[in-house]
This record gives sequence, C-alpha cells and structure tokens, in this order.
Amino acid sequence: MARLVKCAFCGNEILPGTGLMYIKVDGSVMWFCSRKCYKNMLVLNRKATKLKWTKVAKR
Ligand SMILES: [Zn+2]
Repeated sequence: MARLVKCAFCGNEILPGTGLMYIKVDGSVMWFCSRKCYKNMLVLNRKATKLKWTKVAKR
C-alpha cells in the first residue's frame, strides 16, 4: 500500500518511490522531495518559511 509522505522542508507531497529519506539520530524519519530540500534543511539550515519556493512560505 502506497502512502503519501510530505517533504519535511517544503511541504510538497512525495510520490512513492521518489524522494530522499533521512533518519535522524533520535530515530525519527524525515522525507525530502529533492536534494534541494535536503540541502537547505540539513546543510544550509534555512527556514522554509523564509523561502518563496516552499509551500509553507509566508506570504
Ligand atoms: Zn521539498
């Protein structure tokens, strides 16, 4: 059964079989739709609400 997961960064839905899964040290799982989101969250430490291309961005 396929279930939809949402990107932990931009909030877009990730189709089954795509995206990146990242498991944190505490065991929780984060999904990212692309390397772009992965990098922005974990490498660049950006806030999704401050970026225009994310779904959670404030208008
Ligand atoms: Zn994303």
